[in-house]
Amino acid sequence: MTALPLSTLLLNLHNAATAAGRPTPRLLAVSKTQPADAVAALAAQGQRAFGENYVQEAAAKIDALAELRLEWHLIGHLQSNKAELAAQRFDWVQSVDRAKLVTALAAHRPAARAPLNVLIQVNIDDEDSKHGCSPDAVPALAAAIIAEPRLRLRGLMAIPAPWPEVDRRARAFERMHALFVDLAAQHPHVDTLSMGMSGDYPEAIAHGATMVRVGTALFGARNT
Ligand SMILES: *Cc1c(COP(=O)(O)O)cnc(C)c1O
Repeated sequence: MTALPLSTLLLNLHNAATAAGRPTPRLLAVSKTQPADAVAALAAQGQRAFGENYVQEAAAKIDALAELRLEWHLIGHLQSNKAELAAQRFDWVQSVDRAKLVTALAAHRPAARAPLNVLIQVNIDDEDSKHGCSPDAVPALAAAIIAEPRLRLRGLMAIPAPWPEVDRRARAFERMHALFVDLAAQHPHVDTLSMGMSGDYPEAIAHGATMVRVGTALFGARNT
C-alpha cells in the first residue's frame, strides 16, 4: 500500500462521510514503529492526534516531541504492569477491556493532568486471538469507568476481523454502532466510536465511525 499525502487522506475521510450523510470523523495517525521525525513531519502539516501500540516505544516519542503538545492515544493491548506508565504519558487509552485495568489507570493518573480519556475495546467478532471484552461486558465496564473521577469514558473501539465478505464486515461495524448509540444515550461524555484502519476506513465511516486509526495508508508499510 502506498502512502497518501495527509491532505488526500483527509479528503477521502470527508468524501466517505459526506457520501454516507455523516459528520467527518477524526483521524488518528498510527505512528507505531515510525521514528519521531516522521511524527514531527505530519504534525507540521497540522495532524495533532497520534496512536501508538507499545507503551515504552511511545513514551520515548512523547518525551522527544513534548514541545509539540500532541495528543497521544494508546491503541495496543495494555498489560497491567504498564498501566502506571500509560496513565502518566497518554491522553487517551483506547484498549481498556477489563476492570483491573480501570482501577490501575485511575490509581496512576497524575492529579496535575486532565482525566484520562478511555475507550472500551470490544472483541466484536468474538475472535480467540483478539483482545477486547465481549459486547455483553460493556455496561459493567462502563459503570466501573464512570465511577472513577480520574477517568473519562469517551466511547468504544474495535478491530473487526478482515472478513473477505463485505456483508460480514458490515455486520460487525453495525453491531459496534448499535452498542455505541446505546452507550452514548446513557453517558454524557461518550462521543467516540473508533473503528476503521487503512484497509477498511471507508466502510467504517459509512457505518458511523467518529474516529479512524490509519497507519500504513499515511506512513507506508511498516518494516516489522
Ligand atoms: C496498527 C494498528 C492500526 C493501523 O493499521 P493500518 O492497517 O496500518 O492502518 C489501527 N489500529 C490498531 C489497533 C493497530 O494496532
